[in-house]
Amino acid sequence: MYETFKPVNRILMGPGPANVHPKVLEALSKPTLGHLDPQFIQLMEEIKALLQYTFKTNNEHTFVISGPGSLGMEASLVNMIEEGDKIIVCVGGYFSNRMAQIAEKVGGNVVLVKENWGRAISPEKLEDALKQNPDTKIVAFVHAETSTGALSDAKTLSKIAHNYNALVIADVVTSLGAVDLFVDDWNLDVVYSCSQKGLACVAGMSPISFSNAAVQHIKNRKTKIKSWFNDFNLLEPYWFGENKRAYHHTAPANQFYALHEALSILKEEGIENSWKRHKENSNKLISRLKDELNLEPIVPTNERIPHLLAIKVPDEIDEAKVRKDLLDKFNLEIGAGLGDLAGKVWRIGLMGYNSNEKMVDYCVDSLKKALNNV
Ligand SMILES: *Cc1c(COP(=O)(O)O)cnc(C)c1O
Repeated sequence: MYETFKPVNRILMGPGPANVHPKVLEALSKPTLGHLDPQFIQLMEEIKALLQYTFKTNNEHTFVISGPGSLGMEASLVNMIEEGDKIIVCVGGYFSNRMAQIAEKVGGNVVLVKENWGRAISPEKLEDALKQNPDTKIVAFVHAETSTGALSDAKTLSKIAHNYNALVIADVVTSLGAVDLFVDDWNLDVVYSCSQKGLACVAGMSPISFSNAAVQHIKNRKTKIKSWFNDFNLLEPYWFGENKRAYHHTAPANQFYALHEALSILKEEGIENSWKRHKENSNKLISRLKDELNLEPIVPTNERIPHLLAIKVPDEIDEAKVRKDLLDKFNLEIGAGLGDLAGKVWRIGLMGYNSNEKMVDYCVDSLKKALNNV
């Protein structure tokens, strides 16, 4: 016989998942409802409204893909791209690179705008690429590139894309709920996120929103969408069917309770207050790391994701050993570098429920002890 699994109560200060709010964990354990139960449909309606609030959008087509952020990424690209369509993907890290890979797999004619890892995407580089590729239909970028800690100017990138009549797909997986994001004001046509980072929920749900222009673009396609699960036209009757909802897949009911709770908590705090809290705690963390340990983020000040810092590992330090010590001795998880930054940075997240002063102190104090080998 196996014993009931008892996970360690880790402190999760990496790039996600972040610790889940206790009220959200509690919501998970409520009785399960069927995915077409009238009460469940009501819950879906409330989730849609809460997501419109969180994304700052009036987009009617704001809903959830039942899967992680990567599935939302795939849903965005597979619905918006037809075979041979030209798409510019701005790549400055691991996740934007994943966008480019998917865009190619679903038949896009992909043009890359390359940026150095650890820097925001240069609007000038995007504009040059659009000048050279006036037939571009879509511009895709990552708002908060979690692999490098760089935050791009989504508003400016979107404005440039629209000046050249391209639609915009923006990855807001790490930004949602934690840093300023205005989907309507910035004219972002498709955005997708996840549940386990800024929203302090469990993983496995991808909030997504399509503007009217994006919906028109999908409805005007001449070729079939190359996915069954992510086909917008098949998801629509489940999330938006009037009077009657059609079965699409079995929605993970208990996870949706958790998302509903997480979004309600965020709304109660007020999203602007949440953005402010993330910035303030980030500033505290940055100054303590600098003052007490002489550690600094690799990203220039005005290009940083506040709540996810890529911290340069000093040359003489074995970064993996420090992470192992933090986990073994202090029960604390921080992230390693990915791709070009593997071995060169630690990634420290102060996301959602974890963005508070106590966590800042715990992180700095533990890191201090780990570096001094106590
Ligand atoms: C985490 C992340 C993803 C992938 O999300 P999963 O939930 O892990 O699939 C995509 N884009 C960015 C920017 C991320 O940080």
